[in-house]
Amino acid sequence: MSELLPNDRVSWCLKHRQTGGANIEIVYDQAQQRAYYGNLLVCGSVWTCPVCAARITEQRRVELDGAIKRWRAGGGGVIMAAFTLQHSVDDDIADLRKTLTGAYRTMADRRSYKDTRQRYGIVGSVASLEVTHSFRHGWHPHRHVLYFTEKELTDQDYFNLQVAIVGVWRSVLSKVGRFAHQQAGVVFSRGDDQAGNYVCKWSIAHEMTKSPVKGGRDGGFSPFELAEQWHETGDQRYAHLIREYARAFHGKHQLTYSPGIPDRPGRPGRPGMKELLGIQDKSDQQIAAEQQADAVIMAELDKASWKRVYIRRWRGVILKAASTGKQADLAAVLEKLGVAAAETADDGHVLYRAQSP
Ligand SMILES: [Zn+2]
Repeated sequence: MSELLPNDRVSWCLKHRQTGGANIEIVYDQAQQRAYYGNLLVCGSVWTCPVCAARITEQRRVELDGAIKRWRAGGGGVIMAAFTLQHSVDDDIADLRKTLTGAYRTMADRRSYKDTRQRYGIVGSVASLEVTHSFRHGWHPHRHVLYFTEKELTDQDYFNLQVAIVGVWRSVLSKVGRFAHQQAGVVFSRGDDQAGNYVCKWSIAHEMTKSPVKGGRDGGFSPFELAEQWHETGDQRYAHLIREYARAFHGKHQLTYSPGIPDRPGRPGRPGMKELLGIQDKSDQQIAAEQQADAVIMAELDKASWKRVYIRRWRGVILKAASTGKQADLAAVLEKLGVAAAETADDGHVLYRAQSP
């Protein structure tokens, strides 16, 4: 996507050094058998950068997966609902996103919704934002919400909860001049093991976190798939769509946790969902920049070497060679750029320098 978004953060991701480091580090992650650049600036864009999105969504998935398991093990219930609204090819993506978010907020403020939450012991929620596109139906934004309940609901309560929430959602949508699809206004799901539901192949945590990188499964394309289509076909319609999307989603959180309630006299409050689930407070940017704990520095490239790698667009080629974890494989590729091993540091990593051409 970076070619299409020259003014977006993603355009400089993994190109420039962090301040302070003179050389570029190549880091090897033994556990994942993967190499990456250690001290390059990363953009942390979960919506537009494939490299950062892969890292961010994977960490969020693992965190949420663990949290769901702990919650269930403690006797609580977890229910997922997907909220959508009716739309057409003529709808603007930014409008749709705003309408969806606004409608959800309005619903959350409704008395009947608050009563429903109370009645079924909903302690809090985690929400994620997702969008796909098809030329037939236009942009299709949806909001997945995980409801955490004090206890596992009985089938009867689960059914009644659905009826109540679908009712409020429809009423809110009609207020903002939208409608729920006959089938897809709100779709509920209780878990990973129910046959026939639309999450069957995916875990709930996967469904919640992986939307920017996974393929669209409703017949539409995910944004990263639109970018692929653009690369393959050169069709400018895709370029236009991606720019629209990047503008509409810039700065928006992909995953949000319901806030806590502060203490009031005579009425104790409640911690927020993030705290209740024991999830660390980390920004996308922090996660993208984090180094894996068991990663080691394998090599350093001096500035001149990096320039050659960069100009030849060999950043990926170098990482691929380093991903074997063998110094000889990395050296063989660097040699083609006139870059050779100059010193070996105490910890065994090799410093490479560009030879005069
Ligand atoms: Zn990035």
